[in-house]
Amino acid sequence: MAARRPALDEATLIERYFARPSPARRGVILGIGDDAAVTRLPPGQDLVTATDAIFAGVHYPRGTPPRAIGHRCLAVNLSDLAAMGATPLWASLALSLPRARAAWLREFAAGFFALARAANIVLIGGDTVRGPEGATVTVQGQVSRGGGVTRSGARPGDGIWVSGHPGDAVAGRLLLARGSGSRVLRQRFLYPVPRLREGALLAGISSAMMDVSDGLHDDLGKLMRASSCGADLDVGRLPLSHQLRAAAGVEAAREMALSGGDDYELLFTVPPRREAKLARLTRRWALPVTRIGTVRRRAGLSWTLDARPFRFRDKTFRHFA
Ligand code: ADP
Ligand code: MG
Repeated sequence: MAARRPALDEATLIERYFARPSPARRGVILGIGDDAAVTRLPPGQDLVTATDAIFAGVHYPRGTPPRAIGHRCLAVNLSDLAAMGATPLWASLALSLPRARAAWLREFAAGFFALARAANIVLIGGDTVRGPEGATVTVQGQVSRGGGVTRSGARPGDGIWVSGHPGDAVAGRLLLARGSGSRVLRQRFLYPVPRLREGALLAGISSAMMDVSDGLHDDLGKLMRASSCGADLDVGRLPLSHQLRAAAGVEAAREMALSGGDDYELLFTVPPRREAKLARLTRRWALPVTRIGTVRRRAGLSWTLDARPFRFRDKTFRHFA
C-alpha cells in the first residue's frame, strides 16, 4: 500500500536496517531490492515453508524489548523448521509499525540478524507497512526428498519425548510482567532457542515430531490426534528446571510445564527399536531430552502421578505466588 508509509521513508528504512550484505548463499539468485526474490533448490531436496506472525499485546507483551521481538519473530518460525527436521535457507519479513523509530529498528534488526547468522538463514525480502506493532515472517528450509518429519507418524508403543524444560518460558513471561525474578527464566521467554540442530538429527530417528508453542498438553493432543492415537503420560517425569521449581514450587511448576506456552521445545515420538540409537545420539547433548510417556491405541491423554490419575487445573498457575 503506497498511501500509508512510516515517517522514515520505506526505501531508506529497508536500506538502513534490513538490506544487509548477507552471506552469499548458494541458491539465492536475487535478494532484497527487486520486485521479488529468486531462489533455487538443489536437486533431490524438498522445500519446507512456515509462516508465523507475532503482534504486540497478542503474542508478546507491549513494551517487550525490540531486540527480543526481532529475535522472536524469526525464532518461532525457525522452530517450525526444526520440528520438520529441515535446514534453514532463507526468510522474508513483513514488518508493521505504528511509527518508524530509529532506536527501535536498530535493536529489532540486531535481534533478528544475530539469530539469522547463528541459524545460517538469509533475509531475501519482505514488506514494511504502517499499522499495529507486529512482524510476520516466512521461512523456507530444505529436507532431502521425503525426509520431512510429520505429526502423523506416531504408533502405539512409541516413546514420547520432550526437549529442554517446558514451563520455563511462561514463568519468565509472568516474572517479566512483575519486573523481577530469575533472569534465566525471563531470558527463556525473551529469547527462545529454536532447536534446529537437534531437530535435523532427530529426523532420522523420530516417528513424529512437532514444536511446543501452545503448551505441552494441548500440543500433545494435536500430535496424538494427527497420528490417530492417544497417550499415557507421567507427570512425575516432566523435566522441570530447578529455576522453575524455585520460582513457582513443584505444583505450579507442573501446571506451567503442562499448560504454559511459548516453550519452542521439540516434542517427538521414537519407536522402541530406535531407542538405543536415540540414547547414542543425545548422550553428549547439552540439551536434555526426557521420556514422558508412551503412545497408545486409545484416543485421549491420560496423565498419572505416582501411578494415580492426575488432574491438572488448566492455567491456575496464572495466580502463582
Ligand atoms: P514493492 O513495492 O515492489 O513490493 P517494496 O518497496 O515494498 O517493493 O520493497 C522493496 C524491496 O525491499 C523488496 O525486495 C522487498 O522484498 C524488500 N523489503 C521491504 N521491506 C522489507 C523488510 N522489512 N525486510 C526485508 N526486506 C524488505
Ligand atoms: Mg512491498
